[in-house]
Amino acid sequence: MLTNDQLAAWDREAFFHPSTHLAQHARGETMSRIMTGGEGIYVEDRDGNRLIDAFAGLYCVNVGYGRKQIADAIAEQAGKLAYYHAYVGHGTEASITLAHMIMERAPAHMSKVYFGLSGSDANETNVKLVWYYNNVRGMPEKRKIISRWRGYHGSGLITGSLTGLATFHNKFGLPLPQVVHTEAPYFYRRKDLGMSEAEFVAYCAAELEELIKREGPDTIAAFIGEPALGTGGLVPPPAGYWAAIQEVLGKYDILLIADEVVTGFGRLGSMFGSDHYGIKPDIITIAKGLTSAYAPLSGSIVSDKVWKVLEEGTDQFGPIGHGWTYSAHPICAAAGVANLQLIDEMGLVQNAGTVGAAFKQALIDRLGNHPHVGDIRGEGLLCAVEFVEDRDSRRYYDPARKVGAQVAAALLSEGVIARAMPEADVIGFAPPLCLTLPEAGIIADRMAKAVKTVLGE
Ligand code: PLP
Repeated sequence: MLTNDQLAAWDREAFFHPSTHLAQHARGETMSRIMTGGEGIYVEDRDGNRLIDAFAGLYCVNVGYGRKQIADAIAEQAGKLAYYHAYVGHGTEASITLAHMIMERAPAHMSKVYFGLSGSDANETNVKLVWYYNNVRGMPEKRKIISRWRGYHGSGLITGSLTGLATFHNKFGLPLPQVVHTEAPYFYRRKDLGMSEAEFVAYCAAELEELIKREGPDTIAAFIGEPALGTGGLVPPPAGYWAAIQEVLGKYDILLIADEVVTGFGRLGSMFGSDHYGIKPDIITIAKGLTSAYAPLSGSIVSDKVWKVLEEGTDQFGPIGHGWTYSAHPICAAAGVANLQLIDEMGLVQNAGTVGAAFKQALIDRLGNHPHVGDIRGEGLLCAVEFVEDRDSRRYYDPARKVGAQVAAALLSEGVIARAMPEADVIGFAPPLCLTLPEAGIIADRMAKAVKTVLGE
């Protein structure tokens, strides 16, 4: 067996890691961890650490680690037929069954699912479908996509542009001109506007309408948003937000893409975030929870309304010119089927709602009065604690102090992995949906201890 030192050397020499400080990593200055195993909410590394993964990898291992049922389904499919493509009407029992299972779970007005491999490529597909849709309708100028600041939709060319976080634009020459951004529904951070929550919702809708008018409604094709903001800070929307936004979109014939890469398949305590918040999307993006990341798979679920135009398009112009080698890959589809069955069998959607509510309350009980905890928020098993230097003014800490990263490091030394989110000092929790009440209590206790270590009582 290779030694840890040998692997660490090869890692520095050969491995180009995503979202990593490349120079520091190559010099061996940053942490690296070699993961070896996992079971339930726990992961293990080569140094013998057993850690609670309170972020489920990248909020994706929703059923938890080590589920034999999924591993067996993958092995069986690999043995029987590892690959066949899905072009020109081909499929496998796994991919067809999975499409059926997704449509059984999706909101009633949705029609078909196109399979991809990642959240980024699914959103890329969505933008192309929206463009195709408007071209078929004879509206070639209607192409721009509105996204929110702090939204996260991937890191490709168009999807990195949709993402409303500077880190994903800097030095890449993004965003592309087809993308425009609007206000994020982040009430806690906009209390400086001096508005009530209801007034803030009206303000977000008015800002959106203003942007649409400024750009010209005939140039705006779609609006994309996560039902609850994810990477931009884990922020559930203020009450009434989605109704107000949908009213504006309806007025100007603008499609709505619900990016449910994080919220799909139970994270908020509902099968989809769209069900949870009364959203009626034209397209839904799914990934992560579709296979619980046991294999890479994503999807673009299109509504009856969109599908009808796509059909018209192929009748007029021939087969749709969009397809990837690995679309509906049988091994990934087999993982998806087993995963969705397991979610049902284990009652994970409901568990996310009940344990999530208890977990948020446990954080509030332990940290709600802390002078540097500004906000504790969440929905289902998507929770965040935001730190501020001053609670009354919600003043940010100097970013150089890296308070969020320090708390995440202190929590790690307590045996819990959580995520310091990329903007401000926010610690995010998105544990596997199989989290139990006692485990939720353990994470909250250790979080309280970590906060005390870094920021005092
Ligand atoms: N959309 C959302 C809401 C996400 O959170 C992510 C990833 O975190 C993506 C899209 C991109 O998915 P991927 O990293 O699989 O490309």
